[in-house]
Amino acid sequence: MAKFLMLIGVIVAVVLLVKNYQRSLARQDEKTADQPVPVKPEDMVRCDHCGVHLPKSESFLSQGRFFCSDEHRRLGAPGSDR
Ligand SMILES: [Zn+2]
Repeated sequence: MAKFLMLIGVIVAVVLLVKNYQRSLARQDEKTADQPVPVKPEDMVRCDHCGVHLPKSESFLSQGRFFCSDEHRRLGAPGSDR
């Protein structure tokens, strides 16, 4: 009876190891699948009005200064038009 229980224990251990191995393989596949997607480095600029940081492509440029929105571009830097 003890041998039988030991055999079951060994089988369970092997099954768990195989499942773990398959899971780690699947995780590696996910990693390698993620890698080809290039993370495009983008310049971050600071809004000259409120100071918020945003990607350069989403910023509004006016007279060499960056702004987070068209409204802030119109308002300009704080105190500059007063
Ligand atoms: Zn702003």
